[in-house]
Amino acid sequence: MKTALLSSRLATRSLKSSHGGNGHGPRHARRASCAPTAASVPHAFAWLKRPKHNLIAGRWVPAASGKVFDVFNPADASVLARVPDSDKEDIHRAVAAARRAFDAGPWRRMKPNERGKLLWRVGDLILEHADELAEIESLDNGKPRAVARVADVPLAADLFHYMAGWATKIEGHTIPISVPYAPDARFHAFTLREPVGVVGQIIPWNFPLLMAAWKLGPALTTGNCVVLKPAEQTPLTALRLGELLLEAGLPEGVVNIVTGFGETAGAALAAHDDVDKVAFTGSTEVGRLIVHAAAGNLKKVSLELGGKSPNIVFKDVGDLDAAIAGAANAIFFNHGQCCCAGSRLMVEKDVFDAVVAGVAAHAKKIKLGPGLDPGTQMGPLVSEEQFRRVTNYMHQGKQEGACYVTGGEKAGGRGYFVQPTVVKDVKPSMSIVREEIFGPVVVAEPFTKPEELISRANDTPYGLAAGVWTRDIAKAHRIAAELRAGTVWINCYNVFDAALPFGGYKQSGWGREMGHEVLEHYTETKAVVVGL
Ligand code: NAP
Ligand code: MG
Repeated sequence: MKTALLSSRLATRSLKSSHGGNGHGPRHARRASCAPTAASVPHAFAWLKRPKHNLIAGRWVPAASGKVFDVFNPADASVLARVPDSDKEDIHRAVAAARRAFDAGPWRRMKPNERGKLLWRVGDLILEHADELAEIESLDNGKPRAVARVADVPLAADLFHYMAGWATKIEGHTIPISVPYAPDARFHAFTLREPVGVVGQIIPWNFPLLMAAWKLGPALTTGNCVVLKPAEQTPLTALRLGELLLEAGLPEGVVNIVTGFGETAGAALAAHDDVDKVAFTGSTEVGRLIVHAAAGNLKKVSLELGGKSPNIVFKDVGDLDAAIAGAANAIFFNHGQCCCAGSRLMVEKDVFDAVVAGVAAHAKKIKLGPGLDPGTQMGPLVSEEQFRRVTNYMHQGKQEGACYVTGGEKAGGRGYFVQPTVVKDVKPSMSIVREEIFGPVVVAEPFTKPEELISRANDTPYGLAAGVWTRDIAKAHRIAAELRAGTVWINCYNVFDAALPFGGYKQSGWGREMGHEVLEHYTETKAVVVGL
């Protein structure tokens, strides 16, 4: 299915892309422009009107081919901006710039506290421009501006502030060694932690600014140079962040930002022979392509992929209303477009009906609308393609005989709106139970025997996250230990912090984002031995 999806996307893109023209393609019928105005986006208006280019070697440049593609507002399918449709040549120029900056530039030789101060300044600049970034993110991705303002933007700033502190703490060890074939010799042995080199970073559209921060923060604090490719659907905040990086004083070529499509720009970056590491967040299918592409020069790979996370509610949860609200948040936050969404709700039988009815009641109350509307609680899905994907799953579930407690259809309006959806009477074999939908659709299943619960919860190729709701603290710990997932939330969900590692077991990925663990993925260890 993914292969078909990819080839149809590529076909559409070649029509969509143009030599500086308007680039409208068949996927998005031309709409009367609902252009953002100075009143609707007071902080971002001027920036949105400016031409958009790639950031290569500290300069803003068009694609070598001159091609551009349209960036859409998913609330009404109008065109927000045009960005470079970059290909292999642009990636090559960006990688060359990063290589020059790494080999000859000041970045990796800079005193760690200077590097840290610069990254701290990036965090400050993000906060200074929080309203503008939230407006751009809301327009580009569809998420409510208020959510971007309190979650995406401050989390991105916090990530830079947290990583700034690590610049001065990347330490090796001294190691006492006992070389058997040199009994009389003495040595002083120690390790150095050094940057990996040139890093290619490919990010998705669900948290565009935050994913850029998750990727750039650890790469930069450890002294690497980067080529970042944002998602085609949501390249705008990455470009604005590029300006803020330069404003903070980042030397030229340390971060290069190249917009384009995955199959062209992304694939060229993953395969490039002069890239030392590729870090990817997105679908498991594309994660596999990244691994294959990386095989040529055996570059390092870290992956943050999909999920189908179980969220388990026991009857002894105590405050059932809090668990219901938590379960609703677990799936409906960010319109379900979260890799860690609690999309499999597993509820102890005695409280199953009450929990399902409660989550459905939350779903029905969610106010859908454009992200810029202050009353909006859930915006449109990010794109027509994602809208089709989610509504296809909704229809498939019906055909397979599941019962829709609420939702299950597209919602009105010109944008890519779908109804928050709660499904029950599902079977383990159904596609809506097994596959990542990446939309506001939760499948609810009752359980009776706690001993079967763990194997059912773990019965998925994914292992990104899980939730457990109970007042029995020993049970909560036991279950957390048995769940094969990179994050387990107990009596809470969707709690993120720059200090907490995040990533997947099984097919949910390789490695961790954030915390000090991510630094392992951006450093090489060098052992140095001095004969005394
Ligand atoms: P995707 O295709 O995996 O895209 C993620 C990133 O990879 C984008 O920057 C994309 O570029 C790029 N890419 C695509 N094909 C590539 C290739 N062959 N080589 C190198 N890079 C490539 O994700 P999507 O199409 O946006 O969403 C599809 C599904 O992925 C979702 O429905 C969801 O299941 C999952 N997803 C997961 C996450 C997560 O955080 N784990 C995030 C988003 C999506 P373009 O955008 O230009 O194609
Ligand atoms: Mg968009």
